[in-house]
Amino acid sequence: MNTHNFSIEFFPPKTEEGAEKLRVVRSKLAELQPKYFSVTFGAGGTTQQGTLQTVLEIKNEGFDAAPHLSCIGGTRDSLRTILQEFQAKGIRRLVALRGDLPSGYGAGGEFRYANELVEFIRQETGDWFHIEVAAYPEMHPQARSPQDDLQAFARKVAAGANSAITQYFYNPDAYFQFVDNVRKLGVDVPVVAGIMPITNYTQLMRFSDMCGAEIPRWVRVKLASFGDDSASIKAFGLDVVTGLCEKLLAGGAPGLHFYSMNQAAATTAIWQRLVK
Ligand code: FAD
Repeated sequence: MNTHNFSIEFFPPKTEEGAEKLRVVRSKLAELQPKYFSVTFGAGGTTQQGTLQTVLEIKNEGFDAAPHLSCIGGTRDSLRTILQEFQAKGIRRLVALRGDLPSGYGAGGEFRYANELVEFIRQETGDWFHIEVAAYPEMHPQARSPQDDLQAFARKVAAGANSAITQYFYNPDAYFQFVDNVRKLGVDVPVVAGIMPITNYTQLMRFSDMCGAEIPRWVRVKLASFGDDSASIKAFGLDVVTGLCEKLLAGGAPGLHFYSMNQAAATTAIWQRLVK
């Protein structure tokens, strides 16, 4: 199986202890030789330094790394400064997002949607960056309608995105339908499938509620039936997610992007099964 378009996502650690743990995780995941690692960005710039620092560490270790960059709450000046810093550090790839402001932050900022950020990045930096944007096979939870969301996605690509990474999902048909629909709108960039390994039932339910990802009933009831039996949850999760990845790749998905949650074991186990 061709893994050349596999990538792995981290969030920036908040403490030195977390940073040290992530170094260990990274050295394990580096053995899989992903195309690149990406590092999330707290909306409103809350993790700005942590994101950059983690990206630079990864680059120093000899791997390609992409910071995420979100625009909500930002200004043209603040984002220009960040882009210039990325350029000065030799970063050539980024994931451009609107982001979600943490509660307590007012609205404000000069950007409303991610397409405006993509347009701004192209205006400011030309073709310097390879730009990834987010895609939502099960519809972004704030979208007015599926059709509106598809149009919003198409606008990000028209503004200059090179490729896309999806929100995670467990229903492959949602992905294939989404890709068919955007192709009908003339969007031809690769749409890499975002993959969330299943390791913890409570956490998965909480995240999925927040981001609008559907957990199929048969998966949910089975996971719930395991109670605190973490080994059974992980074993079942591994079967479900590996099966999903196989279907996606067999059906033409151009690559996989793993939401590692700063853990090595689950991503490695899925990956190793796929390359067998
Ligand atoms: P947009 O593409 O701007 O879409 C947001 C919503 O607005 C959608 O409902 C869309 O339909 C709607 N919309 C767009 N344009 C218009 C318009 N003109 N009129 C009306 N409605 C419109 N968040 C972070 O904070 N940091 C991260 O590092 C991060 N990384 C992510 C990585 C991936 C791969 C994914 C899938 C998500 C990530 N997120 C991250 C979450 C993301 O920021 C949220 O999902 C956010 O709510 C939407 O961001 P977006 O870039 O998709 O926004």
